[in-house]
Amino acid sequence: MALLQIAEPGMSAAPHQHRLAVGIDLGTTNSLVAAVRSGSAVCLPDEGGRVTLPSVVRYGSDGEIQVGAQALSAQKTDPANTVSSAKRLIGRTLADLQQEHHYLPYRFGQNERVIELNTRQGAKTPIEVSAEILKTLKTRAEASLGGDLVGAVITVPAYFDDAQRQATKDAARLAGLNVLRLLNEPTAAAIAYGLDNASEGTFVVYDLGGGTFDVSVLQLSKGLFEVKATGGNSALGGDDFDHRLFCHLLEENSLSQLGEQDSQLLLSLTRAAKETLTTETEAAVSATLSDGRTIHTVITRQAFHNLTQHLVLKTMEPVKQALKDAGIGKADVSGVIMVGGSTRMLHVQQAVGTFFGQTPLNNLNPDEVVALGAAMQADVLAGNKPDGEWLLLDVTPLSLGLETYGGLAEKVIPRNSTLPTARAQEFTTFKDGQTAMTIHVVQGERELVSDCRSLAKFTLRGIPPMAAGAARIRVTFQVDADGLLSVSAQEQSTGVQAQIEVKPSYGLDDDTITQMLKDGMSNAAEDMAARARAEAAVEAESLIEAVSAALTLDGDLLEADELAAIEADIAALQSRLKNGAAEDIRAAVAKLGRSTDNFAAKRMNRNIQRALQGQSVDDI
Ligand code: ADP
Ligand code: MG
Repeated sequence: MALLQIAEPGMSAAPHQHRLAVGIDLGTTNSLVAAVRSGSAVCLPDEGGRVTLPSVVRYGSDGEIQVGAQALSAQKTDPANTVSSAKRLIGRTLADLQQEHHYLPYRFGQNERVIELNTRQGAKTPIEVSAEILKTLKTRAEASLGGDLVGAVITVPAYFDDAQRQATKDAARLAGLNVLRLLNEPTAAAIAYGLDNASEGTFVVYDLGGGTFDVSVLQLSKGLFEVKATGGNSALGGDDFDHRLFCHLLEENSLSQLGEQDSQLLLSLTRAAKETLTTETEAAVSATLSDGRTIHTVITRQAFHNLTQHLVLKTMEPVKQALKDAGIGKADVSGVIMVGGSTRMLHVQQAVGTFFGQTPLNNLNPDEVVALGAAMQADVLAGNKPDGEWLLLDVTPLSLGLETYGGLAEKVIPRNSTLPTARAQEFTTFKDGQTAMTIHVVQGERELVSDCRSLAKFTLRGIPPMAAGAARIRVTFQVDADGLLSVSAQEQSTGVQAQIEVKPSYGLDDDTITQMLKDGMSNAAEDMAARARAEAAVEAESLIEAVSAALTLDGDLLEADELAAIEADIAALQSRLKNGAAEDIRAAVAKLGRSTDNFAAKRMNRNIQRALQGQSVDDI
């Protein structure tokens, strides 16, 4: 895994030269950059001594671009040109956002492939916004480390799909950063803990950030980190606690319908109050609204906990599911790693402690732990630790599969498979003489393609014409260590090959992933019925096709009433295909089969006669 050590001209000590590499936690709310210095990972501060950079970018009126705290404070007065939470938009499309309930104060462009935000400096994509954040961190790191970076490890939620990972890589490229690896955030956190404490066993990473909740189950043993399962909720985080408190304030002060600026002001004050309540037993919110009304409300910690306890409980469902997916019970968990600023809240700590029956690990700063782990991984990948390598194993969050005839999804790589991974599966042609095949790659847990998310389509051409079912097409799925998918396909007897890099036209949002996972479980019975129906339909269609072809060739063998009976049975089967259940279709298939028995016998006789014509008995 380590890069080759390259001796630079004139530097005899080159093999021992420390190569500058950083870890970047590109967060929804806050981003950080860290590096290994004198053997230990530290977060790098800005000139003001702050390590967290608010993930906010403002496109100013004079062509200036502000990133961080300055942009965050301008958000109240200039919301349309100030972009926050770009991570929620990266690798996604407008269509994805229509299912999103969060209010977004932006003017969206109409591009269907990538989200565009119309700012006074023109249309900006979330990729460009993220690139500004990365650029700021890169500049900070180079100033602080005193040299050019060889590369960076950038963390992404374990749940990020192919499009979101690809878009994150694109942002890094725009920022002029060489990506050594995209690393899952919980894995980075575990690296930080695992190396510091030389821990072994099964660990749960509980990451409650500003806008998202991620949970992962990891197996740690000497130098080996294996992700056993991942889960979460992409619409649950500190923002929801702010919002609940905000609504409480509106109620307490009998306020409704606030303007944009007043809302932003109150939201930032409630967030500050929430953070205060982590260390104080009460906090006050005082503000003067734009119409001159004043607000002064004191909130106790207990009241805040009562208002938001349901949100804390909501995090436990994905926790239970992840344990189930990993095939373990609470008692098997050696430690629970707390990540994300929101895990500072005391009722979160308490709930997690109670659920697992143990005090969660929180001796590392929950804001910094992801960046620290990423920095350690970057140090290894940059070749600074030739004998201190660890092997990192991550998993795919959703099953990957192919559409097969009848709209069924055939799973090729089941979810929670260890990365990197490659699996192959053989498929065959459906029609006689079929020379091309479209390979449709889908992601999701459901049986029917229409219920999964389409990732990409590509076509394999030049299949030699063969009888239906004779061609053997081997499709290989490869998911690399960054979680990016590529698919190749080859016809086995001729070696005809087609290949694509899966570059989906739209992203798969986390809500959809969560929903797809849920649907996959709750709809298992329904899906089985749908699968049975689709299979019956495939059989029916091929029978209709075969009978129709035979009628064209040898229809003259039939009496008029025989022909009418067969045609009536075909029509009956076609109508069952439109709206019948699996059993109805099968019954109609059987009926058509019976009514064509005599026809088949007549055809066989004719074919034998044809074969015999012009041949002497000796030839046979
Ligand atoms: P992300 O991973 O989404 O970028 P972070 O891990 O930085 O987010 O967490 C940001 C969230 O943590 C915000 O909602 C912030 O209000 C919350 N937070 C930070 N410090 C505290 C604190 N002391 N008490 C409660 N919440 C906090
Ligand atoms: Mg985070």
